[in-house]
Amino acid sequence: MSTASQALARVQAILQERQLGALLVSQPENRRYLSGYTAPDHGIQASSGYLLIPQEGEPWLLTDSRFTLQAEAEAAGFHLHVYRRGLLEALETVLPHLKVQVLGFEADYFLYSTHARLMELAEKLTVQLVATTNLIEELRVVKTAAELDLMRASTKLNEQVFQQVYGRIAPGRSEREIARLIENTMLELGAERPSFDTIVAFGENAAKPHAVPGERRLRPGETVLIDMGLVLHGYCSDMSRTFMLGTPDALFIERLRLVRAAQKAAIAAIRAGVTGAQVDEAARKVLSEGGYGEAFGHGLGHGVGLAVHEAPRLSPHGHAPLQAGMVVTVEPGLYLADWGGIRLENMVIVTEEGCEVLNQDTTFLDL
Ligand code: ZN
Ligand code: ZN
Repeated sequence: MSTASQALARVQAILQERQLGALLVSQPENRRYLSGYTAPDHGIQASSGYLLIPQEGEPWLLTDSRFTLQAEAEAAGFHLHVYRRGLLEALETVLPHLKVQVLGFEADYFLYSTHARLMELAEKLTVQLVATTNLIEELRVVKTAAELDLMRASTKLNEQVFQQVYGRIAPGRSEREIARLIENTMLELGAERPSFDTIVAFGENAAKPHAVPGERRLRPGETVLIDMGLVLHGYCSDMSRTFMLGTPDALFIERLRLVRAAQKAAIAAIRAGVTGAQVDEAARKVLSEGGYGEAFGHGLGHGVGLAVHEAPRLSPHGHAPLQAGMVVTVEPGLYLADWGGIRLENMVIVTEEGCEVLNQDTTFLDL
């Protein structure tokens, strides 16, 4: 059974439990997860379609004529309804046909203005609306064996891109040039797209964890921080490296070793059953004892899958126990406004006994 059909069966069981007649799925990664239909949304106002999953029986894909051929090819087992005037028109036809009395929708990815119109329709059809949150996201956190293979492949390709690019980084080149080179190389090597806007930060710019690449040109002896990821077969990768061209100075080496030690401590702490907060604490402790507790402001990591940021969280607020088959980043860092920053990020698969580190590339990691 494919990942999509397994997931669909689980969603229908949940709908039964919660007595929802059907679920309207608008979130693009959820849509892809359940149907295999890959069209992305270009913003929440430009939907490529919706799934309507009834409690039992065949699911529906509602979309417009721009996507008919793609939907037919990708969403095997789905009834296709092609609408001309949008979602509401489609629901007015399909809901009575399915005899839906209680309809769930995704509160975290549904326009307020559409919701107002949906309420009017629901009243007219005497359908009760129920807001749901994280219903499908919670299924997505534990990956199937097939998904894990795709995540390994995504990480491997991301590392190939890094290996092709880092040798071409030289003094005089701008952050923006390097970011563009990375993203072009991703596409050349077969990625669908970057999984987020590539971060390239030189020198003091590396003190901003989410620096936006600008016209700043690299000077000899400066830090280079790169955070990059790509999408391959729908699955995201995410990796950060920080290095100095030529011979790094002693302070950089000392700080990089500390961040790497924090990363190793966290990786050693990861296994099914421990919480995200415990793993975060393992890394934070190393940085605090090294004198840089205040310099590590963000959480240690996040889940990755069809989305580059998803559950679970590795942070002081991550209270749920990790489960085997989750994929998370481990990305400790330190950021000093007058100096710059260091972040090292690898992805791991949580297992019963520990974890599998997906990244094979150790360039610049162990100085
Ligand atoms: Zn990252
Ligand atoms: Zn990340």
